[in-house]
Amino acid sequence: MQTWGCQMNEEDSEQLGLHLRSIGFEPADSILDAHVILLNTCSVRRKPEDKALWMLGELAPLKLMKPETVIGVCGCMAQLRASEIKHRAPHVDFVLGTGDVSQVAGLVEEALQNRRFAKRIELPERKGSVVTDIPRREVDRQAKLKSFVPIQYGCDKFCTFCIVPTTRGRERSRPNDEIVEEVRLLVERGTREVTLLGQTVNSYGKNLAEGRVPFSQLLWELDEIVGLHRIRYTSPYPRDFRPDLLEAIRDCPSVMEHVHLPAQSGNDEVLKSMRRVYTRDSYLEIVRNLREVVPHIGLTTDLIVGFPGETEEQFEDTLSLVEEVRFDGAFMFIYSPRPGTPAAEMEQLPLSVRKARIDRLIALQTGITVERNRAAVGKTFEVLVEGPSPKNASRLQGYTREFKMMHFEGSSELTGTLVKVEAIEGHLWGLSGRLVEG
Ligand code: SF4
Repeated sequence: MQTWGCQMNEEDSEQLGLHLRSIGFEPADSILDAHVILLNTCSVRRKPEDKALWMLGELAPLKLMKPETVIGVCGCMAQLRASEIKHRAPHVDFVLGTGDVSQVAGLVEEALQNRRFAKRIELPERKGSVVTDIPRREVDRQAKLKSFVPIQYGCDKFCTFCIVPTTRGRERSRPNDEIVEEVRLLVERGTREVTLLGQTVNSYGKNLAEGRVPFSQLLWELDEIVGLHRIRYTSPYPRDFRPDLLEAIRDCPSVMEHVHLPAQSGNDEVLKSMRRVYTRDSYLEIVRNLREVVPHIGLTTDLIVGFPGETEEQFEDTLSLVEEVRFDGAFMFIYSPRPGTPAAEMEQLPLSVRKARIDRLIALQTGITVERNRAAVGKTFEVLVEGPSPKNASRLQGYTREFKMMHFEGSSELTGTLVKVEAIEGHLWGLSGRLVEG
């Protein structure tokens, strides 16, 4: 299985794997040994689509050599470009969109018996205001320290640059009792940290049969699970960031003091053209409120530069937002037109302009990240130990509650525990520290 894209796609890949395990498949050692090859694709930018198409081309000779190998294309590109995939890559056995990944087991079995191309790209309908057809999920039986748990699928926001509402459909929330039960099971199997996933995760709780359940209520319900140390969530949408969520961050012991709050731009006109329904001021107000209730909160964001029509002054508003907020980190992107979205039809800026802007933004944010990490030196953090660092096996690694990576020396027996570590150096990637209490 090859996966591109966001955490939601990683989670879908895990589900694809678990559904295949449920019909007797195990992970293969290499692509040449595999009986089933799945590409779980991403459409959010052009690059991952190109990579998936390139890999499909590479698989053609393998299919000729081993025609019994089942090849499936899943994810957002499958949802969006099913007919084109069939046409460009006739060696593909099936495409499976994002609506219900549990269908993979049936598709593989079908492909093994009947070599006809199959396509499953129906997205669940929202009947009236209530959604009932939420995909069937498998819960991983293997012990995992950190787990992703989707709580909401699809998106109702329709930002003009984004293809997600088309590839993943309208917003649907999973019932809260089902989520709590899944997390309880995961904790029994060893999970200590969950990341709740949703495109606009804090809009969670609409369209449920039992009535609206605010996102903050779900956090409180999860907070009661004994043995669950940490709850993260990604990504909240600024307009839906309400006071009850602030209170849950402040008062729920297991909710981490980290918020990844996509800003996208620091200019109101650009935000409007992106159809982001908040303003620079309302965004800054959330930041102020967050820092007021939790002064040490970790704040990260997503930013896009070179959106169609963005002037030099408007781009500078994004720079000034970054200077004003002083984010701990940011994912920064050059705007990439996605066919089928309104922004792709707007007049595009030259690539040279977009590239020059991203360089300036990265230089600014990089300096701020290092500065903020250096300012953490001398402070002591709670760290959930994940194990030896892949880059230096003699050191342990884990994240602080503010979502800063920490490296420090210690026994690998600490893996899975919460320890106290004092930061002694700040870097671009995070902190190095000294174990204070294990
Ligand atoms: S909120 Fe906007 S950017 Fe995020 S998934 Fe929805 S449409 Fe895309």
